[in-house]
This record gives sequence, C-alpha cells and structure tokens, in this order.
Amino acid sequence: MTFNLNNLVRENVRKLKPYSSARDEYIADGSKKIFLDANESPYVNGINRYPDPQQRSLKSVLAKRYSLTEANILLGNGSDEILDLIFRAFCEPLEDNIITVPPTYGMYKVLAGINAIENREVLLTLDFELDVEQILESIDANTKLVFLCSPNNPTGNSFSIAHITQLLNNFHGLVVVDEAYIDFSGKKSWLPKLNEHENLIVTRTFSKAYGMAGLRLGVCYASEGVITVLNRIKPPYNVNELTQKRAFSMIKDLGLVEEQISEILKQRKDLVAQLGQIGFIEKIYPTDANFILVKVDNADERYRQILDRGVVVRNRSAQPLCENTLRFTVGNPQENKTLLEVLKSL
Ligand SMILES: *Cc1c(COP(=O)(O)O)cnc(C)c1O
Repeated sequence: MTFNLNNLVRENVRKLKPYSSARDEYIADGSKKIFLDANESPYVNGINRYPDPQQRSLKSVLAKRYSLTEANILLGNGSDEILDLIFRAFCEPLEDNIITVPPTYGMYKVLAGINAIENREVLLTLDFELDVEQILESIDANTKLVFLCSPNNPTGNSFSIAHITQLLNNFHGLVVVDEAYIDFSGKKSWLPKLNEHENLIVTRTFSKAYGMAGLRLGVCYASEGVITVLNRIKPPYNVNELTQKRAFSMIKDLGLVEEQISEILKQRKDLVAQLGQIGFIEKIYPTDANFILVKVDNADERYRQILDRGVVVRNRSAQPLCENTLRFTVGNPQENKTLLEVLKSL
C-alpha cells in the first residue's frame, strides 16, 4: 500500500461542496465593486465587512517567508482549530483511530474524544524519544493520523530526524508535526521537507514565540492536496479581520519578536543554571522550548508551596513518564528572579 490522499479523506468530506460567498468570487479580480450582497453595515469602521475567507494578504507574506505557495497554507482560529479540522477531514467517527505518543500535548487526546476517534497511545522511550517500531506495530488499516509535537510539550526535547523520517516513510496515513515551539529551538523545522513527504503536515502557532496567544492564530502547512481538503470544511470566516491585520503587520516586521526570542533563550539558559542549585530539583530535562521540565522530590507538595507564594507553574505528574515533574515557563527577568527566590525559600 502507498500513500493515497483520496483514500484517507472521509467519504462525506470527499463529496462536500464548500460554502462559497458571492464576495469570494469577485474579490480576487481586484476591480472596485459595490457590495450589497452580505447584509453588512455600509458604515466604515475597519471591521464592518466580513474578513477575507482565504486570508490572502497574510498567506502571501507567510508563503514568501517560508518559500512555499499560498496553496500550501491554511490558517485557523489557533492551532487548536486546525487540529480539529484535521480530525474532521480524515477520521470517521467510531471507525478510525489515531496515534499519540505520551507524554505530549493534551489537546490531541481531547480532540480524539470530541470526534469519537480511538486514541492509541504509544509511550515515548525513557529518554523521551519516539518508539518507531512500537508505533508502526500499533498502526492498522484505520489509522489515519499520527500526532508528534516537536519540540515536545511538556518534555521540551525535539524528536530525532531519523525517527520521524522512518515514520513518514513507513506510514501511509498523515503525520502531523506540531511545531508550536520551533522558534525557541536550534533544530531544523520540517517545513522544507514538505516537498519530500506527501503525508507530512506541519502546524505552527502565533501563540508562543510571536507573543499573540490572545489573537488566536494557527497555521497549517501541507501539500496542496491536503490544504484543499481542509479548506472544504473550514468555517468561511474562521480568522477575523483584526487578527489578519495584526498578524500581517507583525510578520512584516519581526525585529521585536526576534529580540524577545533571544532574550527568552538567554533567560532560559540562566534559569537552567540556577535551577541546578535547588536541592529538591533532582533532574532538569534538556529543552528546545520556552519552558523547562524538572523532576522534584514531591511534585504535588512543591506545586502547592510555589502556588502559596504567588507563582503558578504546571504540575505534569499525571502524565506517564513524568512522575514528580513540574513545568516552568520562562518568563521575563523579574518573573524568573521571583520564581528562583520562591524555590530557594522552600
Ligand atoms: C501552546 C500549544 C499550541 C498552541 O495552540 P493555539 O491554539 O495555537 O494557541 C499548539 N500545540 C502545542 C503543543 C502547544 O503547546
């Protein structure tokens, strides 16, 4: 069996005709028209018109930045919407299954539950690497998707290129690589590999390094075929006008964001060094992200003590292989200083 996109798409989605607004057909030709088609208010305030359902301006700058075409890009209301669209396009409820590799981002499992899709969990190895043999063994004819988060949340490491490549080459469903934290990593992105692997989907977000979690913007990069399928089922106006405008101007001028990323990396390095001095921290896991996972003597107790002193961290102990771990997001210098003072006072 080889990769065949058409066989992966749910039957109802294959037959679907996407919703089309009359506007969509006329906006592309660039000529000035009077729009009395969508019952909007005629009074101009910057947001009185429906937003561009294809987000052309924003996609064009993203395409240029990553040497792709606009046909390789789908934008969503956060990557959470994108992940949900991927489920709904490819997974038949109560029939198909997906594979996730805990400890990992919790949303994949939640979305599997919402969409009534079996979630097959294949644990990472003890050093948080992919167990490719085990993943391949868990795959059957109804396995549509494998979700990988690299750099991984909550462990912080990136998966080996060789392992992901082995999976891409031997699995004939789609491999989703969630690169939410790639901007904090010195490792290579999978974006340049899209041309080599038809079954690769890369997701990104504006919520972390770009500092726009409140904006809700996620990006999906994939083959033209995959993007065409997802476009069929996305809500027409899923990315609002303010988000499109704000993200567009930010992408045009990344200077500030780049400065912030290097400051966070510097802070991360300092924080790792200082955490090494804390007696009850037994292990600091290597990280390619803007957070640090640590193993402590008693996570529930330490979590509570830290919280009582006014700092909210994340207790990841319920995740497999993460017993007694806490995850610290790298904050600004003052916040990190306070975190360290709190930890030292315990
Ligand atoms: C934070 C995070 C996201 C971002 O989701 P948005 O809906 O875009 O805010 C995606 N994936 C992972 C693994 C994350 O940790």
